[in-house]
Amino acid sequence: MQLAMINDKIMAMEDVDSAYLDRGLFFGDGVYEVLRSYNGKIFALDDHFTRFANSLKAIEITSVDVADIRSKVLKAFDKAAIANAKIYFHITRGSGVRDHLPKADLKPNFFLTISELKDNPKLKNEGVAVSTYPDIRWKRCDIKSLNLLPNVLAKGDADKKGAWEAVFVNDDGLITEGSSSAFFGIVKGKLRTSPLKANILPSITRKYVELAANNIGLPTAEKSLTPKEAQVADELFLAVTTKDIIPVVKFDGQPIADAKPGKWTKLLIEEFKKFIA
Ligand code: PLP
Repeated sequence: MQLAMINDKIMAMEDVDSAYLDRGLFFGDGVYEVLRSYNGKIFALDDHFTRFANSLKAIEITSVDVADIRSKVLKAFDKAAIANAKIYFHITRGSGVRDHLPKADLKPNFFLTISELKDNPKLKNEGVAVSTYPDIRWKRCDIKSLNLLPNVLAKGDADKKGAWEAVFVNDDGLITEGSSSAFFGIVKGKLRTSPLKANILPSITRKYVELAANNIGLPTAEKSLTPKEAQVADELFLAVTTKDIIPVVKFDGQPIADAKPGKWTKLLIEEFKKFIA
């Protein structure tokens, strides 16, 4: 007999709910997406599904029909009837007895949540502090995988330091991205951010920030910043689906310029609103 124990309850393996045997739980063997809606309309739906399809392909989950997942997401969004919603969903390779080598006939598991996204104007109006954390992640951060332990540790470290977000610094001394956001600086009249390589997530918000920068005549250079450069940058900000653009006013305890959201950042926030409309 194979036996299992869940908290204090001992049971036969056959009686274990398959959710406990999900490879997402054992190995982080799955990929996810986070989307948001503004006033009843999902933002950048196609971009998110293209990235999701890329993530699935990268980890060789081949039996999922992305069009079917898209219908599921739209159906749930309709049913939730939340105008400003955060939509989280993931696909794992499936449930089964713990073995690194997955059985060929596993059925992928789908899980979704939708919740209301409350606006937090304070973040945008006053900006946030960030702190650095070593980028101890794997070499395929372009895949939106469920393995987020380094991100969780980084965020916890930032919180202990009184910062809102952690930014990863890699072994070459370069800032890659935030624990759950893209990272930008404005240095000598140029927007700077890390180039899109396997070491960062291809952030959807980043794409629209770059479009907005182009629209307002702010040149972009895809070149990572060092922490030293960040500390003396004219402006810094973060970008993420659930919050779009958030000014950064403190970096590792050092105020950025006058410690207020910068003029380009504010212009980008305004320009970004046009994409939402
Ligand atoms: N980088 C990381 C590591 C993230 O987890 C996220 C979002 O969660 C982002 C960047 C921003 O991506 P997006 O703009 O697609 O939300």
